[in-house]
Amino acid sequence: MAAATLALAIGGTGLARAQDATPAKQLFGAVRLPTQSDPAPLGFYAKGCMAGAVALPTDGPTWQAMRLSRNRRWGNPAMIGFLETFSRDAARLGWGSGILVGDISQPRGGPMITGHASHQIGLDADIWFTPKPAQPLSVQQREDLPFTSMLDKSKFLTVDNRRWSNTHARLIMQAASYPQVERVFVNPGIKKKLCETWTGDRSLLGKVRPVYGHDEHFHVRLSCPPGSSTCQKQADTPTSDDCNSKAFAWWFTKEPWAPPPKPDPNKKPVKPRQVMLSDLPKACAAILAAPARSEAEATYGGSAMAYSDEPPVPAAARSIDKATVAPPADVPLPKQRPQP
Ligand SMILES: [Zn+2]
Repeated sequence: MAAATLALAIGGTGLARAQDATPAKQLFGAVRLPTQSDPAPLGFYAKGCMAGAVALPTDGPTWQAMRLSRNRRWGNPAMIGFLETFSRDAARLGWGSGILVGDISQPRGGPMITGHASHQIGLDADIWFTPKPAQPLSVQQREDLPFTSMLDKSKFLTVDNRRWSNTHARLIMQAASYPQVERVFVNPGIKKKLCETWTGDRSLLGKVRPVYGHDEHFHVRLSCPPGSSTCQKQADTPTSDDCNSKAFAWWFTKEPWAPPPKPDPNKKPVKPRQVMLSDLPKACAAILAAPARSEAEATYGGSAMAYSDEPPVPAAARSIDKATVAPPADVPLPKQRPQP
């Protein structure tokens, strides 16, 4: 994207003018590296940006990052630490040899050119409903591997029992069990299945939120890190299982699935307004302009593997122990690493 190059070339007030005219998703989508600053989510999950992101290493003992070309392996250190912990627990549950991680955030967060209304402040991550295979996937396989839906598409919002297993249920409920996880988004059909079958702690089902899509992956959202003054908190989730609420029943009516009303042919079509930098928290302009940290420096665990034509080093071929999993000294970490 030319926006960043253009902005650099014209500088000063020209930079401000170029930013005024360019949608925020193009500005943030063009940045390849995070800021050097201390980690901070700035704004709201669906309207914000991020300082001091770290990257999830492409390969870990119990995870692999997918779709590397998208450059969306970046998150708040709390999220990257969480994914490590969760991946270990997932493997222990019998979820293959760990998890496949989809999009987290762009290097400086912000709106994205494709997909996702949220994922803007480094506290959202997508996990595939496909376990990590024992053999590492190549870079190309990570681009091409198709998603698998958990729904029986011949029925209305119904889980496909040929694909769904108790381990799927345990994986989602494991994700919901960590105190720092505020929400787990799944398709309404999946929430319904859990409502009908889950025999563990039912109160955790309140964190499992129904939403469109999310039948091929689920989405984990962490709460604002404790003490963060720049992260905008979302409303609390119900403390009950929320299986019998009106709001949940609504998903099983026709209304959410009805096609949008036909536009009035006598009226000029209204183009949806693009989100501009000025719509985001003020600090996000400074985030775009801030100096970068290198990918190697900013990769959690220091085992960066940039997207390239080279296949990734098989996880088994690397010595993955405490020393390599420890972050490099100059990567800022939250005061406490998240605990399960
Ligand atoms: Zn997501």
